[in-house]
Amino acid sequence: MIYKRSSALFAEAQKVIPGGVNSPVRAFKAVGGDPIFVEKAKGAYLYDVDGNKLIDYINSWGPMILGHAHKPVVDAVIEKAQKGTSFGMPTQIETEIAALAVSMVPNIDKIRFVNSGTEACMSAVRLARGYTGKDKIIKFAGCYHGHSDSFLIQAGSGAVTFGTPNSPGVTKGTAKDTLLARYNDIENVAALIAENKNEIACIIIEPVAGNMGCIPPAEGFLEALRKLCDAHNILLIFDEVMTGFRLAKGGAQELFNVAADIVTFGKVIGGGLPVGAFAARSEIMNHLAPLGPVYQAGTLSGNPLAMAAGLAMLKELNENPGIFESLAAKTEYLHKGMDAVFSETEIPYTINRVGSMISIHFSETSVTDFDTAALANNDSFKTFFHGLLEEGVYIAPSAFETWFLCESLTYDDLDATIEACRKVSKNM
Ligand SMILES: *Cc1c(COP(=O)(O)O)cnc(C)c1O
Repeated sequence: MIYKRSSALFAEAQKVIPGGVNSPVRAFKAVGGDPIFVEKAKGAYLYDVDGNKLIDYINSWGPMILGHAHKPVVDAVIEKAQKGTSFGMPTQIETEIAALAVSMVPNIDKIRFVNSGTEACMSAVRLARGYTGKDKIIKFAGCYHGHSDSFLIQAGSGAVTFGTPNSPGVTKGTAKDTLLARYNDIENVAALIAENKNEIACIIIEPVAGNMGCIPPAEGFLEALRKLCDAHNILLIFDEVMTGFRLAKGGAQELFNVAADIVTFGKVIGGGLPVGAFAARSEIMNHLAPLGPVYQAGTLSGNPLAMAAGLAMLKELNENPGIFESLAAKTEYLHKGMDAVFSETEIPYTINRVGSMISIHFSETSVTDFDTAALANNDSFKTFFHGLLEEGVYIAPSAFETWFLCESLTYDDLDATIEACRKVSKNM
């Protein structure tokens, strides 16, 4: 495939945008080569500026669960845009999407909308601190909760891809309040709590980790966290920015039947527009301004275009819950197909999958936490990534990311992807 025009556009972009991109992973630094500039997308396919067609396994990093340019979502945005794009005053659609979200997700009474997953997690932690009157938080190595200061301590996703899991610019004062635990290691969490008695406001976790590749929670791990939190008066925050409205209507809380105290959302909830949200029981949410003392605000929060896209998306998922099973079946099919390909080679690999999230680590060991994810062979991943791209299959340009399937993918697309894996595996 030829990417001449993409490379030219990238050169132009680099002159005026740091690294040529507005979010680091897009720059392809982890895999080498120039990023691909998109012209348009429809359903499961991306069309780039050089006229190449790619099967998309990123889907905007998750939001496009029903495929790109999904008609009900696009129509809802167009209709709203004609009535004005922002007012900074309440609109009825905010209540509509809030009521629908609250009805779909367990254990929440109220929800507040923000503009990104970062904002949602940042606000959720502030709320947890305000509610409990405690300062410290526990996060897990390799989990990503957006780019706000408290979370850039051993963060996953682009932060680890570029070797800056602990970002310069985060003060020591901030960093000392973020305690780091090992994913899937409950004893480690218990020890941290014991060492910091009565100081921990919350534990924040990706209930299925998706920012160090896909890593499922070990059997009983989330339940054990819940128990520890109850015993020590700590709030449990599920960061469902990735898993919310993707793994099930009610996200990971529903899938694993474990209740969180605060839940954060992003990605799918905005239908492809910039939306995040955080939600909890009334007792907790009522601590937020203007009802309570914990301040949080946003000029464009609850923006009508964003709410229209999100509402159209959630309605469709709510009315067709079979989508989650259909997506999980497609992902299982891909998993089995890739297994069949790689099991016939000498290449060490591990495939992890939950629902419509899947990833492959070229690793000798099973991948259960950040340390085991980091052991995987990045050169193999690079070859795999560029090989797939050459075959017209676009996966995340980093081994520390998950693939997200969308409902528009056909079994023919999946077969083509498995066939592409077979071809590429021969050169690895
Ligand atoms: C993407 C992501 C975020 C950050 O969301 P943004 O909209 O990029 O700010 C936070 N948490 C998780 C689990 C994510 O996957």
